[in-house]
Amino acid sequence: MDTKKLGFNSKLIHSGDFIDEFGSAVTPIYQTSTFSFKNAQHGADCFSGKSKGYIYTRISNPTINVLEEKLADLENGFGGIALASGMAAVTTVYMTYLSHGSHLICGSAVYGPSRSVIDSHFIKFGVEVSYIDTSDIELLKKTIRNNTKLLFIESPANPTIQLTDIKKASEVAHKHDIKVVIDNTFCSPYLQKPLDLGADVVLHSLTKFINGHADIVGGALIAKNENDYNILRKTMNYMGGNMDPHQAYMVIRGVKTLAIRIERAQSNAAKIAEYLEEHPKVLWVKYPGLKSFEQHELAKQQMFGFGTMISFGLKGGLEAGRILMDEVKLAILAVSLGGVETLIQHPASMTHASMSREDRIKSGISDELVRYSTGIEDVNDLIYDLKQALEKI
Ligand SMILES: *Cc1c(COP(=O)(O)O)cnc(C)c1O
Repeated sequence: MDTKKLGFNSKLIHSGDFIDEFGSAVTPIYQTSTFSFKNAQHGADCFSGKSKGYIYTRISNPTINVLEEKLADLENGFGGIALASGMAAVTTVYMTYLSHGSHLICGSAVYGPSRSVIDSHFIKFGVEVSYIDTSDIELLKKTIRNNTKLLFIESPANPTIQLTDIKKASEVAHKHDIKVVIDNTFCSPYLQKPLDLGADVVLHSLTKFINGHADIVGGALIAKNENDYNILRKTMNYMGGNMDPHQAYMVIRGVKTLAIRIERAQSNAAKIAEYLEEHPKVLWVKYPGLKSFEQHELAKQQMFGFGTMISFGLKGGLEAGRILMDEVKLAILAVSLGGVETLIQHPASMTHASMSREDRIKSGISDELVRYSTGIEDVNDLIYDLKQALEKI
């Protein structure tokens, strides 16, 4: 069956799947590090690529392959690569496309460690970097140098919910032979398909929406063409950031409900964003679905829905944020996102507390910013939870 022709929900269930010799309806966990060859010739053929047999789990494994094929189908890509974490996917991208003397353009408000690893590790290998607001296409054009090799974008960005026009940014980059990698973690392929918009590679922290149950850490890369797929896979194999078969099994199980989970959480998020926008103690709300969202039109153009992530600002800044954190009862105080449970986080007093205020504000993290990852609970309970906590401010 050509699963590429199936609808999105059918792909979630069936893409990549195979029926083993026992007829197992669900993908089995091939929890093995190595695979036996039938004879010496078979071993030689597996190594030369003449035979498709499995060799060693770091290179590939049948359970992991099911997930990789599923993700490739979901993102309309040539091939997928599963990795140990989202950060393993990020560093695999950097290792593949950057070398001594090359220049990276990175969105300024990307996931913190995607930036920190550049500053702490890649700069010492002679990589140059510019962090810019990639939503500003003119600024992007001006930032391109002769040695620019990679454009790394998150849209919507973390945690500012800033969008970048992926189509326009890709067109600009491709005129200069620059690879475009989009971290699509905040959307998942259900809400945005960057490869269809012109990107070369899509990156995911599977930890978030795709696994969806906050019980594993994982990452993935999906390449649009065979060449990128092959070089990324080679980097993954040499750097050793591979996924484990049990981890792959968990993600295969979790991803099946991706669409219905997001539908429910997204419908909750829309109602919560509207509630917050009317609340007297709330300064501003950023949610792509709100008419007041400055990139609402771009969101409608490049996303299939407005997602489940809300950022809002509290009157009363840092102190108000602390009170809200201490008073919510249903929303869990935690980093991460995209699970069935609602999470809340105040970056200025929690995740970004060790950064200087100046640097924080430069990355779009003001004192009053609260990040809310909407889960699939009853929306009335979530609104009541916020209401009673906001009253305490
Ligand atoms: C969580 C996250 C990552 C890193 O993924 P891990 O699975 O935690 O390594 C990268 N990008 C974004 C947008 C994330 O939210």
